[in-house]
Amino acid sequence: MRFAALLAASILATPALAADPVAVATMLRDRALTGSPAYAVVESLTTEVGQRLAGTPAEARARDWGVARMKAMGFQNVHVQTYDVPRWERGVETAEVVGTSAQRLVLTALGYSGATPAAGITAQVVRFADVDALSAAPAGSLKGKIVFIDHAMQRAQDGSSYGAFGGIRRAGPAIAAQKGAAAFLLRSLGTGTARVSHTGTTTWGDVTPIAAAALTVPDAQQLARLLDRGPVTLHLTLTPRLTGTGKSGNVIGEITGATAPREVIVVGGHLDSWDLGTGAIDDAAGIAITTGAAKLIIDAIKSGEIPRPRRTIRVVMFGDEESQGPLSGQQYLKGHPGDTAILTAESDFGADRVWQLRSNVAAGAKPLMASLAKVLAPLGIAPSSAAAHGGTDIEAIIESGAGVIDLAQDGTRYFDIHHTADDTLDKIDRVQMDQNVAGWVSMLWLTASSDVPMAHPAIAPLP
Ligand code: ZN
Ligand code: ZN
Repeated sequence: MRFAALLAASILATPALAADPVAVATMLRDRALTGSPAYAVVESLTTEVGQRLAGTPAEARARDWGVARMKAMGFQNVHVQTYDVPRWERGVETAEVVGTSAQRLVLTALGYSGATPAAGITAQVVRFADVDALSAAPAGSLKGKIVFIDHAMQRAQDGSSYGAFGGIRRAGPAIAAQKGAAAFLLRSLGTGTARVSHTGTTTWGDVTPIAAAALTVPDAQQLARLLDRGPVTLHLTLTPRLTGTGKSGNVIGEITGATAPREVIVVGGHLDSWDLGTGAIDDAAGIAITTGAAKLIIDAIKSGEIPRPRRTIRVVMFGDEESQGPLSGQQYLKGHPGDTAILTAESDFGADRVWQLRSNVAAGAKPLMASLAKVLAPLGIAPSSAAAHGGTDIEAIIESGAGVIDLAQDGTRYFDIHHTADDTLDKIDRVQMDQNVAGWVSMLWLTASSDVPMAHPAIAPLP
């Protein structure tokens, strides 16, 4: 084993093979599969920091962790960008059915939910099939009522059901508030039957927030059965609050490019998480996969097996994704004038295996994508003609003109766990995580060692 590794190193050190990006990508890919550095990263972040709600001291501790970890891994130019975000804290959250079927229901407040009075409210539940039905309710008709929206979100490999039903959580509470409702409940945007609630942010615009919460899937089913039998009254207490402004931030490190350092491949995941679990699949996994892939390149450079890549590979542990979405990417761009983001990609869909390669790059980069597809094929990753969309944190970077690649993960079980107290380290499958790292390190090496422009065709690159 030791001899074989040394032999491989000496072969790759010969200039001809070291200059063959596909040979290097293949070597790094295979090395990732033998046990990548990623699991140690996700284990460390979820254990030593735990939950990392944006704007809180816990997120600040995560940034300190990120700086120390990146330095220890050998990243260059490790730095932090901080910026202000609103700070929200969870309070008491209880619900009881009042009357002959008196019983507790399990729920959790949505991010940025308003509050009930401390003593709670007692009100009748009005059920709607979907957001459209809620929107059609006459103005003022819901005065003092608790709105409940049920749904039938199902598992999907590509996670598309979250898109289809997400509007219930994001837009539903504000619509209910506008119509006079006292509170809003939804069946969690989840696909499992565990009695855990799925939180997530909701948006209010100019509307004064009301209490808004997600029932667990079994509790929503229970409420639906009770409503089938007749009117239901709930006593609901939710006391979250806004506590002013806090700091969020990006933690950034890089492998500086050898000959084109201002051409940058920008990748990462987000460092913040919801407060209920320890944010293992969302998104310590993405932090681990992207830093773990870069670490394989750092180690191979240090050992003399491979040269520095032509371009800079920059890994960003993005700040507040859960509540402030694209702000993290906007802040990244603001802090790095003069650099051109050639290509960007985000890992923010857990740690289960990558099954599909999607890209949105300049026509001239298509042959490079074909080479990448060949290196990824033995990992069970198939190329797709569908365009890549990236993730929330890199939205602004894509808009700046960068090409984008999705290494699309299998999301079949993602929404069983997403945004719940159950998002913990034990849900990470090490073998599947290493398959992710194998895909990412192949992609990073091929794109960073290339001189092909990759800006996607829809948007002109920045001057
Ligand atoms: Zn996420
Ligand atoms: Zn999330």
